[in-house]
Amino acid sequence: MKIKVLGCSGAEFPGHNPPGFLLDGKVLFDAGSLTNVLDTKGQSAIKDIFITHAHLDHIRGISFLADNIIVEKRKQRVNIISIPSVIKTIQRHLLNDSLWPDFTMIPDYENAVLKYVELKVGKPIAVNGYKITPYEVNHSVPAVGYLVEGKGGKRLFYTGDTGPAGATWKKIGDKEIHSLIIEASFPNRMRELAILTGHMTPQLLGEELQKLKHMPGHIYITHPKPQHLKAISAELGKLKVKNLKVLRDGDTITV
Ligand SMILES: [Zn+2]
Ligand SMILES: [Zn+2]
Repeated sequence: MKIKVLGCSGAEFPGHNPPGFLLDGKVLFDAGSLTNVLDTKGQSAIKDIFITHAHLDHIRGISFLADNIIVEKRKQRVNIISIPSVIKTIQRHLLNDSLWPDFTMIPDYENAVLKYVELKVGKPIAVNGYKITPYEVNHSVPAVGYLVEGKGGKRLFYTGDTGPAGATWKKIGDKEIHSLIIEASFPNRMRELAILTGHMTPQLLGEELQKLKHMPGHIYITHPKPQHLKAISAELGKLKVKNLKVLRDGDTITV
């Protein structure tokens, strides 16, 4: 599997865009970056968008993608996939015909640009030849990470935003994760704030890795606050973890 990093920041600045991870050009994980990065061709290829949680920096791209599909009269239809509480928040607070049009009714319900697909925690869904399973993580709002299993037995886990998540790793159990995309939002000196808001510091991340049954072959860091990127990177380096990389917008991950 090939993942293109559209964005991987915990805030927005030029060159630092919010999270969006595009699998094989078709399946998007989080929509913090989408239309701001992909041209019409890239946007048109997207069929499924998995959302980890309903914070704005992970969902905003849905709105602009739907708008472009209508304006360009594309035949494209897109599934918005997540657990029910996340879907409900998007429905009530984003695509509510007030903040933005309800694109699940445009042009009409049958032919709508967007369709909601609800997942059950722990229950896999088959998409584009992959088995994708949501696992609850530890954030300030209902949130899941996604385990993506390919045909060749390769596994990727993307945490989305999370604080320490012992229960998640327990559920994943014996399954070996070949590539882990995990967040580290704050530097170590902001540990209390990280825990309070459901985020990670390098030190917390180091503690999490101890809880995993198998050390992932590759660890990719997402969601750092650009204001603290230097400190976070230095502190991650001190963990002396093999094959750990702080992601940058535009990177490609091959699993
Ligand atoms: Zn969040
Ligand atoms: Zn976030």
